[in-house]
Amino acid sequence: MMWIERLPKVELHCHLDGSVPVPVLKRLCLAGNVAIPGDDAEFRKLIEAGEDCGSLTEYLRAFDLPLQCLRTEEAFFTASYETAANAAKEGVCYLELRFAPLLSETSKLPAESIIEAAAAGLEKAALEQGIHAAFILCGMRHFKEAENFRTLKLAKQYLDRGVCGLDLAGDESAFPNEAFQEYFRRASREDIPFTVHSGECGRKENIELAVSYGAGRIGHGIAMKGDVRLQEKIAASGIGVEMCPSSNLQTKAVTGWEEYPFRDFLDRGVNVSVNTDNRTVTNTTVTTELKLLQEHFNLTSGEAAELMKRSMDVSFAQESTKKIVKKKIDESGIA
Ligand SMILES: [Zn+2]
Repeated sequence: MMWIERLPKVELHCHLDGSVPVPVLKRLCLAGNVAIPGDDAEFRKLIEAGEDCGSLTEYLRAFDLPLQCLRTEEAFFTASYETAANAAKEGVCYLELRFAPLLSETSKLPAESIIEAAAAGLEKAALEQGIHAAFILCGMRHFKEAENFRTLKLAKQYLDRGVCGLDLAGDESAFPNEAFQEYFRRASREDIPFTVHSGECGRKENIELAVSYGAGRIGHGIAMKGDVRLQEKIAASGIGVEMCPSSNLQTKAVTGWEEYPFRDFLDRGVNVSVNTDNRTVTNTTVTTELKLLQEHFNLTSGEAAELMKRSMDVSFAQESTKKIVKKKIDESGIA
């Protein structure tokens, strides 16, 4: 087995609704009476962005079906358990999964029940596979302010009980970070660690703003490509940058591998992590992403082991968990 398979992995940016394994998603569709095509290839077309994905808008269409299935406590339990167990099988030993509970909340299914069921799913995966996993709750850019404050309150309520942090997701160009100053100010005041999807497709101002709000990490951060000053600032701050290579190519954040700023960021000392963004929508794993980075940017085993440990440093885990996972990486002997 080569070092990439053996390396204990850390994943910080993974959306639950975009990462439910295909056979599990099929089962959830049947259980929830969601009509799906019988043909496997046709089904996959609905839930995968595919190689000819043209934009972020097109990419986001693949979330429609999983969201239709995530409408019961059982579905959240199963989706969370299966996604974490699946990640554990490729050597992920620490996983932060994210989702927006308010997207699935109904009068019959309160967000509290959703979070508790999902957290129970992660607990089962932890017991069976030894994976450390927790949720980041996502506020949504198109939501009303009060709804995002409610997500923030839920994050606080369940912090260290299945939840480890907060995020903001959705259309970054239509709803830029300026509008969310109060949301992040409150998160800071409540001591909720947070990351912000920023600079995914254009607009590096969002990255600067996220930093000024006190973000512990930036989701994607691709827009600081070419801005050496900003990269150096981010490197000096130690803030984590959650890179999602294949997803960034699909959403056309960059036009191709030769344009992808992974090596620039890494060599400038930016604390980058390697993530799938969406295991099912992008049809990938952390193992696959590492192989692509090895192929296109000559990522070495020593660099990857170091990257995993630094990812753990900026994770939202408790200190004791950080220690356990970093020790595991050291003990793998990969350097
Ligand atoms: Zn994302």
